[in-house]
Amino acid sequence: MAEKIYKYVVVGGGIAGVTCAETLSMLCQDDEILLITASPLVKVITNYTQISKTLEDFDVEERPMTSVETTCPNVKVIQKVIVSLNSELCVVTTTDGDEIKYNKICICTGGKPKVISKDNPYVIGIRDTESVKEFQKRLCKARRIIVVGNGGIATELVYEIEGCEVIWAIKDKSITSTFVDPGAAEFFLDKLKEKKDSKTGAPSKRLKYTTDDVPEEQPGSTTMGGALGPDWVRDLSMVGSQQISHKVHVEYSVEVKQIYNTEEFLSSGKVQNVLEGGDGEYIEEKWPVYVEFTNNKVFGADFVVSATGVVPATDPFTKGNQFDIAEDGGFKVNDKMETTVKDVYAAGDVCSASWELAPHWIQMRLWSQARQMGSYAAKCMVASMNGENISMDFCFELFAHVTKFFNYKVILLGNFNVQKRDNGQDYELLLRVTKNVEYVKVVLKEGRLEGAILIGETDLEETFENLILNQTDLTPFKDHLLDPNIDIDDFFD
Ligand code: FAD
Repeated sequence: MAEKIYKYVVVGGGIAGVTCAETLSMLCQDDEILLITASPLVKVITNYTQISKTLEDFDVEERPMTSVETTCPNVKVIQKVIVSLNSELCVVTTTDGDEIKYNKICICTGGKPKVISKDNPYVIGIRDTESVKEFQKRLCKARRIIVVGNGGIATELVYEIEGCEVIWAIKDKSITSTFVDPGAAEFFLDKLKEKKDSKTGAPSKRLKYTTDDVPEEQPGSTTMGGALGPDWVRDLSMVGSQQISHKVHVEYSVEVKQIYNTEEFLSSGKVQNVLEGGDGEYIEEKWPVYVEFTNNKVFGADFVVSATGVVPATDPFTKGNQFDIAEDGGFKVNDKMETTVKDVYAAGDVCSASWELAPHWIQMRLWSQARQMGSYAAKCMVASMNGENISMDFCFELFAHVTKFFNYKVILLGNFNVQKRDNGQDYELLLRVTKNVEYVKVVLKEGRLEGAILIGETDLEETFENLILNQTDLTPFKDHLLDPNIDIDDFFD
């Protein structure tokens, strides 16, 4: 019997991989598509709605991998871990020695957390369902924890945690700097101090399956499940052992210098710091772990959460192949989602967009982009197989992201933080802030809208999206653009 060759193989059961397999299934109903995933659960998008031209909203559900076979009958899903790729022979090899041949393959293996002090038992990373369970288990006994990192995960964690002191260590001068500017950070700070309704005892909606529902991972496998999505905190209890609501102390502009266990700390001769604004009640305590920061302050805690981002999971594929790897560690992909190795595509967190980016689009390792890249990669694979041309998907024209931080709706559009700065160009920032209600910042370049940060229920997203896409000259309207008494929709109708 002739050796089986799959026309399309997709590796990874996260949003990018599943969307890629689903799109291939839809486009090529007569072909069998193979989806290989290390995790027994896959991530599936549900309730998808297009809010505007580029803004989208959806939920993510974790489901047993077989659910993809049910919805897409021509997709076969197997749980295996890929350990190598031979791009000359178009073969991937799994941990159990299986060899799978492909015509075209899309790598969607996501990222691995960059955990500080990886083997330290008092430091945990948060990435997938398993790591969240471990975090909850430890949190319920904790009086104080240290969270290191300033991205979305750290932000959501510090806001959600109750009943436990949190020391939030960030390397920047303002919180949540991966997403927002210092002004918006200031706007959020009040929320950190505010008491909020506790989620304790709230019934779980159980939207998700957990790994308890499915068989154990293959023995010896260290490959993790897909990264969690934006709703990961929704049903989780994040309560420590104390009778307090929020108690967050931010240490700005610091990195971790040294981590000590109790004995190491006691023999180091160092002195722990008292929390500013804290009551110092724990100063005499012995903590399981102590962290010394680059500002020489030392704090003790029950454990440390490392939320310092991810590195693309390219490892199993690079050996023996000529991949171009970007500075951030991802596979460089062109405008057809092709890596530099023939017939090998990549999408989601594992890839680095290396085409000439549209002026108002940036890559951020987000759920929405994993979906868009997975879908577009599938279309590119099919177009290439059929010798057809394909033009870039419209979603890559404008960066658009909806999320929730500190219980506020947050919409980011275009070059919202002037990430792409043209030297010599003048940028103008306009601001409208109503304390505890909304924060609106727009970035103008030569009178044209470059980007915007919209926090709260501003209802400005569609108009601003159009203004960025059309590059309307706003010079005559500039002074009224953020006037709350003027309906700007009327201006541009
Ligand atoms: P992943 O979801 O990481 O999936 C990778 C898949 O590849 C997994 O199924 C894995 O098992 C599989 N795999 C890996 N290696 C192998 C191998 N060798 N062989 C076979 N299979 C393999 N984004 C937002 O937009 N908003 C948010 O609020 C947000 N919050 C987040 C909170 C947390 C805690 C985390 C960790 C991430 C968050 N993100 C958020 C980011 C978002 O989750 C990711 O950008 C997105 O899920 C990436 O999807 P992906 O498919 O590329 O990769």
